[in-house]
Amino acid sequence: MAKTVETVDLSNTTSAYYAPATIAPTDKLIHIAGQPGSTKDGVVPHDYESQIHLALLNLRKLIIAAESSIKHIVKLNLFIVNYNADNRKHTRHIRRFLAGHRPAITLVPVPQLAAPAWLFEIDAVIALPEPSVPPVLRSVNRTTDVIVIGAGLAGLSAAHDILRAGLSCVVLEARDRVGGKTWSTELKDGNGVVDLGAAWINDTNQSKVYALAKRYGVELIEQNTQGNVVLQDFSGNCSTFVYGELPNFDKATQAHLAEIRDMCETDCQALDTWRPRDTSLDAVTFEAYLCFRGANEVAIATATVWTRAMLGQDPKDISALCFLNYCKSGGGLLQMRSDQKHGGQYLRVRQGTQAFSLGLASSLPEDTIRLSTPVHSIIQTANDQSVTVQAGGSVYAARKVIITVPTPAMKAISFHPKLPPTKQLWIESTTYGYYTKSMMEFRSLFWVKRGFCGLAQSFTGSASVIRDTCSPNDQKYILTCFMSGDPGQAWAALPTKEREQSLLQQMSKLFSVPDLDLDLDSEFIQMTTYEWVNDEWAGWGCPCAALTPGVLDTLGPNALRERCGSLHFAGTETAGEWKGYMEGAIRSGERAAAEVIRSVNAGIVASRL
Ligand SMILES: Cc1cc2nc3c(=O)[nH]c(=O)nc-3n(C[C@H](O)[C@H](O)[C@H](O)COP(=O)(O)OP(=O)(O)OC[C@H]3O[C@@H](n4cnc5c(N)ncnc54)[C@H](O)[C@@H]3O)c2cc1C
Repeated sequence: MAKTVETVDLSNTTSAYYAPATIAPTDKLIHIAGQPGSTKDGVVPHDYESQIHLALLNLRKLIIAAESSIKHIVKLNLFIVNYNADNRKHTRHIRRFLAGHRPAITLVPVPQLAAPAWLFEIDAVIALPEPSVPPVLRSVNRTTDVIVIGAGLAGLSAAHDILRAGLSCVVLEARDRVGGKTWSTELKDGNGVVDLGAAWINDTNQSKVYALAKRYGVELIEQNTQGNVVLQDFSGNCSTFVYGELPNFDKATQAHLAEIRDMCETDCQALDTWRPRDTSLDAVTFEAYLCFRGANEVAIATATVWTRAMLGQDPKDISALCFLNYCKSGGGLLQMRSDQKHGGQYLRVRQGTQAFSLGLASSLPEDTIRLSTPVHSIIQTANDQSVTVQAGGSVYAARKVIITVPTPAMKAISFHPKLPPTKQLWIESTTYGYYTKSMMEFRSLFWVKRGFCGLAQSFTGSASVIRDTCSPNDQKYILTCFMSGDPGQAWAALPTKEREQSLLQQMSKLFSVPDLDLDLDSEFIQMTTYEWVNDEWAGWGCPCAALTPGVLDTLGPNALRERCGSLHFAGTETAGEWKGYMEGAIRSGERAAAEVIRSVNAGIVASRL
């Protein structure tokens, strides 16, 4: 397809995130007035970065209303109060907003904007694209009551319930395997597996995933929390503390950390799990929320470890309401972060968590799942009576469709008619940070011998968090490193050998003890890594998409999971409990299946009356 907006570059401008000039058709330009960083009710947060997020959201709303898109932006003007050329905070957020598109941009430092509280304003010129026309479809290859898109845990759980209710169903999956973000791979020697995606469950408040563990008879491994945890501080120095206690700072810092942690816990517990509403929390980033409440540098660095470990995001990139609700969905910040009983990281699966997906898939009738069948377009008839889906060169028809693909991956599907603006805004506004796991295999449990449990956290290192992921019955001694946020991205830019070396160096610092030599080069066997950031069908990231300030407040908490005609939406992001986790995925699939079964049965009753 021809690009509507062409960039004009000079030899020295191609690497910039904006273009010096752009060309667009002159008869189809939309001029968008200056957008300040205020909420839909006109609330203007005090901090600059929250205002940038809100201004970009306001711009995005108008782009969607004008039926255009980010890649059709021709020109942006940024007006910045108190501009500091040495601290260009706007760049990060605008770069993420543009997602690789390069319009012409002018930055105008100003003493003041129309309202004294405004610190940032943005206006734009946008090109209007040609309207998209539904594809001309060949005759339908297969008709079922329901089409499920995606064979991750949400899709497989939905299909299971649909079939059990006596309806017919096909599952269309883009990959050549089932499981989505549950993906377990054998180690090179064929002795034991590692999880490239989801790994941990628990046996108390994750009832659905635990039921699958029981049903498929997998062996569960309790997370090791015996021994010391390590914290690496800003200057790279390491100190130890017992699991469950506070890091080894001075008394005043410890008290402050406990206060900030407890405040986050209280605020997240006060939210409704399914329908979080709080304009003041959604107007600001999680970082601004912490700063306004007096969090010091150490507390913010600690909170950064949380957001990086849980979402791969930095606190300045996500809404406070989005993060606190994410915590609430897993029972609270403390429970979600815990490696002990009831916690998010309590048990691992010796056979790998893909066993759940493989088990569910094998219980479906043959020919239910179509692998290597990516869905390209979804066409609803005007009276909502049927839906046609174009996928992998074939055409499928059904009364209902359940879409379980991760929100950012939905951008690759064309909907006819277009989804309502609220849905589009949600899909366009979800973001991933950076999040990669590397499983480092060693010859021995060297960290346990030195009194460590394997859990380490770092304010500065390539890995923000490290956890023990051993499988004792396979004699596999593994530490899993989580590279996320900004340090993770810096690590990702290294060649493979240097990536390995960077992690080994960090580990030899973390797990060093006086008078005991540690030769990690001779301990090290291999590194296994998969980068979900390069995975189209995950939507170019993981583990779960998050939202910038203002989106939840603008759209309301149900926008993503609300049905749209005959289209129903599942997937872990739509979950109430354990959003972003396998448990949430299963529950969301079951919820969407129940919606569809109710709706189809109601139709049958109505037609018989
Ligand atoms: C590195 C990592 C670590 C994690 N750690 C944990 C953990 O320890 N514990 C935990 O509970 N959870 C964890 N998670 C999250 C967990 O894996 C997910 O929440 C869950 O598996 C999501 O299931 P889902 O069905 O909603 O989505 P997915 O698993 O993403 O399934 C969606 C499916 O849709 C398919 N698809 C996408 N686009 C199309 C298309 N156009 N046409 C057809 N099919 C399409 C995809 O290929 C995929 O198979 C982790 C995830 C990652 C990546």
